[in-house]
Amino acid sequence: MAEGILLIISGPSGVGKGTVCRRLIEIRGNLRLSVSTTTRPPRSSEEEGREYNFTDLPRFKEMIKEGAFLEWAQVHSHYYGTRLEVVREVLSGGEDLILEIDVQGAAQVRKNTPGAVSIFLAPPSLEALEERIRGRGTEDTLRIRQRLIAAREEMQAYHLYDYVVVNDTVEQAAGLVGSIIDAEKCRVSRGVRPPGWGGE
Ligand code: 5GP
Repeated sequence: MAEGILLIISGPSGVGKGTVCRRLIEIRGNLRLSVSTTTRPPRSSEEEGREYNFTDLPRFKEMIKEGAFLEWAQVHSHYYGTRLEVVREVLSGGEDLILEIDVQGAAQVRKNTPGAVSIFLAPPSLEALEERIRGRGTEDTLRIRQRLIAAREEMQAYHLYDYVVVNDTVEQAAGLVGSIIDAEKCRVSRGVRPPGWGGE
């Protein structure tokens, strides 16, 4: 069985990564969204094990020491990490896995996982992005300001990714990401061969 593809999706805060990923999972089978571990407290709409595995800082640091993470990073004063065990399990089962992670985490995965495909999700404009961050209403003013500054910085990292997808509409962006996955699955470097040419 062919191994699944590890897909990294990054983009500035508020660009709509979560919405695009959820839509992508609805329209494609065989694809899962990785549940990260974080020290950030849950938002009112979030559930343990669904959006994140919530933990405290001492436990998170222990997990770093144990080598439990494929990547981890500190983002907006909280820690976030992707558990290696989960990634291995999903990919070896032949399913594709999306990591919705920040720019620092994406750099680590690119380094330690050569087959990973990285996509930078960009807003149609910076103004549109600011509107979304202000409109979300889940954060206080200081946090919003931190996120706006971080978002502008995060935008600058787009050139480190394999692909840039603009989130004009969720449907279009999810469709484009799906097409990228399809194209990646045809790569000869992933062991794809014409029928009758071995590897089957
Ligand atoms: P939020 O707190 O809004 O859910 O996420 C904040 C940022 O952390 C987002 O940019 C998100 O992509 C990033 N993030 C979420 N999980 C992980 C992870 O496991 N690793 C890294 N490096 N970043 C993550």
